[in-house]
Amino acid sequence: MKPSGEFSLEFFPPKTTAGAEKLRATTKSLSTLNPSFFSVTFGAGGSTQDGTLETVVELQKSGQQAAPHLSCIGSTKENIRQILQTYQQEGIKRIVALRGDMPSGMQEIGEFRYANELVAFIRSETGDHFHIEVAAYPETHPQASSAQIDLTHFKQKVTAGANSAITQYFYNIDSYLYFVEECKKSNISIPIIPGIMPITNYIQLARFSDTCGAEIPRWIRQRLIGYGDDTESLRAFGLDVVTRLCQNLLEQGAPGLHFYTMNRTQPTTEIWNHLGLT
Ligand code: FAD
Repeated sequence: MKPSGEFSLEFFPPKTTAGAEKLRATTKSLSTLNPSFFSVTFGAGGSTQDGTLETVVELQKSGQQAAPHLSCIGSTKENIRQILQTYQQEGIKRIVALRGDMPSGMQEIGEFRYANELVAFIRSETGDHFHIEVAAYPETHPQASSAQIDLTHFKQKVTAGANSAITQYFYNIDSYLYFVEECKKSNISIPIIPGIMPITNYIQLARFSDTCGAEIPRWIRQRLIGYGDDTESLRAFGLDVVTRLCQNLLEQGAPGLHFYTMNRTQPTTEIWNHLGLT
């Protein structure tokens, strides 16, 4: 039986014409999985922002539900207002609202400091038009002074009007289950969807994980290192580990899964098929 819940896929906007062509092929293939929606990331401070709009518009026109990410650091209210109006005109109904990170060299923080202010602004400007997703961190956001304070800040986003949350990726299921329990104790009742990062390349994953504060457990890290150039074995191991994680999450009541596809078809499709989501 197909597990119930919301199953979504994330892209980043392509930077080149060749990247855009490749993403079209990826979209065509991943659309056959029938995801609840595709989300598209947004670069804080400039470079990829037009790419987000172009990509979501193209997805929406191809009949898919598309959810742009929107980060507010470095932005003005007027700038965000215009982006929201454009999305409304394009028939977009869902937004992933984030603070984002200040790009190096950028000086102006802008008119928003934290994501809860963006959520409140979206609600005050557009009422209930958008379903708003926010980010959650079962292993704690890297800049938070403690897990407890981070949870308080998460709650502020919910109080400001978020409908659901997507987590940073993790490989330790207890961090997610504990986080969800703590949310319940704090009267946070929105769905918290686990973010899933397929494992296909150790160096890339290690670099990424260091930056975003996601932990690669030692037993996984040591095996990935041990595979060295044997990419086939590494991918088979990654598929096994991540599929088991997803299965466990769904068995323990996770309300769906959100896949960081890295604009690639195969890793997500394999996990998806193993889980019987199609
Ligand atoms: P916030 O919720 O504002 O939290 C940021 C930090 O500030 C936390 O440490 C929090 O504890 C603290 N904080 C919050 N409120 C307060 C307060 N009132 N006072 C003091 N401290 C406070 N980045 C992008 O640039 N583009 C993307 O498209 C993108 N997509 C993402 C999607 C997901 C699902 C996730 C999990 C992350 C994504 N990110 C993206 C990364 C994200 O922008 C960074 O993790 C960023 O550092 C925090 O964003 P946030 O929305 O979680 O911030």
